[in-house]
Amino acid sequence: MNTFPLTHDQLVELTKKYPTPFYIYDEKGIRDNMKYFKGAFSIFPKFREYFAVKALPNPYILKILESEDCGADCSSLPELILSEKSSITGHRIMFTSNDTPAHEFQTAEKLGAIINLDDITHIPFLKDALGGKMPDTICFRYNPGPLKEGGNAIIGKPEEAKYGLTREQMIEGYKICKAEGVKHFGLHTMVASNELNPDFFVDTAKIVFELVLEVQKEAGVNIEFVDLGGGVGIPYRPGQKKVDLDYVAKNIRKLYDEMIVPAGLDPMEICFECGRPITGPYGWLVTKAIHQKHIYREYIGCDASMADLMRPGMYGAYHEVQVSGKENLPKDHVYDVTGSLCENCDKFAVQRELPKIDDGDLLIIHDAGAHGRSMGFNYNGKLRAGELLLRTDGSVMQIRRPETIDDYFATLDFSGLDGFKA
Ligand SMILES: *Cc1c(COP(=O)(O)O)cnc(C)c1O
Repeated sequence: MNTFPLTHDQLVELTKKYPTPFYIYDEKGIRDNMKYFKGAFSIFPKFREYFAVKALPNPYILKILESEDCGADCSSLPELILSEKSSITGHRIMFTSNDTPAHEFQTAEKLGAIINLDDITHIPFLKDALGGKMPDTICFRYNPGPLKEGGNAIIGKPEEAKYGLTREQMIEGYKICKAEGVKHFGLHTMVASNELNPDFFVDTAKIVFELVLEVQKEAGVNIEFVDLGGGVGIPYRPGQKKVDLDYVAKNIRKLYDEMIVPAGLDPMEICFECGRPITGPYGWLVTKAIHQKHIYREYIGCDASMADLMRPGMYGAYHEVQVSGKENLPKDHVYDVTGSLCENCDKFAVQRELPKIDDGDLLIIHDAGAHGRSMGFNYNGKLRAGELLLRTDGSVMQIRRPETIDDYFATLDFSGLDGFKA
């Protein structure tokens, strides 16, 4: 958990201009963090991080990341458009989609994105969508399936995941694309989510490098870049440790020197498409306590709900809750901190030890900078919070306004009701 970048007085002042609830992101934190990521992997001849747009799809954030030399990992048409609007185009876009409609492939190709195929049948599908010509560069997403011995027990159950190609299909896919005139090739895999064990990423790299060598031998294709996906976790809970990227980079570099260099594949670019570790720890959801009720448990009701931040309700995710201005008081109360959805899982915290909360207290929900606002929804007629950006000079700007009732009704035509007989 990172320190919230505003003092209590600054936050109270801010809520006078921007009523709660809102998200706020720390530009300096995001920039420093991106520099750390890049620095760790600067021991490779070529490195690129493609920020997973789905984690925080805001063009102001993407512009900041663009200026830090970051690319964008997209999986839908709106994400492609967001990247383009943020000056991220060409090979700085990785289009890692699945179950993709033809028109999205067409837009990706028009923007010059690297197309990362999720299945072997997508080769003819893509070729057809592009009018009979394959792109110059193609990447395939590998699903390692039930790993043989020597694989890693911590790599969940890829055989149950809908993504990617089998090993045999990978080899076949490269052969087909080579015959179709594709000139440059990448290899992608992503088999983790929110993983904190650094060795996991080293093991993943090993599996990927092994396949790179097999592809060279069996398909006669030299892989020019590997994309190790996302899945780098962040320490949501107290006591958890952030992934040591220097350690990860150094150990992947060792494998690179042992496996990739002797095969004559140096320089091969190492890529990631992380979202969570880039912006997650540098975003906070600020909400106000507006009710408390004392029944079988003690409840604090907030003006935000799970429509703003779905992770705790959806998968019991832990997010640290800070009561602004009460950081030094004893945590001698136990609360369920709730939103207003008619769903009992709408709780930001369950049986959490916190200082005594009074109506009007500002609650800061930590580590909400990735998969936060972007996972929000409108169920129950809830309107999602807006987004603020704390600039490096200390100023605050609104980078997305809160939703309005008009937004919620935008897809309805009430005038049609006039002549409508029920
Ligand atoms: C979600 C996703 C990511 C980003 O994951 P994070 O946990 O945010 O780093 C990257 N690549 C793909 C294909 C994804 O689905």
